[in-house]
Amino acid sequence: MTKYLDLNPDRCTGCRICESTCSITNESVINRAKSRIHIYRRDVLELVQLYCDQCDEHVCINACPTGAIVIINNQVRVKRSLCDGCGKCAEVCNKIFLSPVNNYALMCNQCAACVKTCPEGALEIKERECLK
Ligand code: SF4
Ligand code: SF4
Repeated sequence: MTKYLDLNPDRCTGCRICESTCSITNESVINRAKSRIHIYRRDVLELVQLYCDQCDEHVCINACPTGAIVIINNQVRVKRSLCDGCGKCAEVCNKIFLSPVNNYALMCNQCAACVKTCPEGALEIKERECLK
């Protein structure tokens, strides 16, 4: 099985607590730019929520020139030691982000920290058949 983060857009208010939670949990600093989930308000009524959902296409893997993005235990993962921050992955997918400070790729790892802190219960870690 492959785990992935799922967001219910009907529940999300755009408070962005998830972004702060993600950065402090995974990067030990409250800095939304170092989050693996990003929430944007496109206009008054429309929110855009971006995070890696472990898609079957995983175009990021082929885009990476250093082989830093791999499948481990049915999960797409970034090997930070191999990532040189070139950004090729983020050019082909808007759900993977570059750390503004250390210049490496940030991809949701299903740690579920944001699920626990979302005040609206809009986030969930789900499972589906293994990645193709
Ligand atoms: S914490 Fe929950 S409600 Fe707030 S922006 Fe994130 S997903 Fe949306
Ligand atoms: S599951 Fe973890 S890594 Fe993924 S967005 Fe939530 S806090 Fe960040």
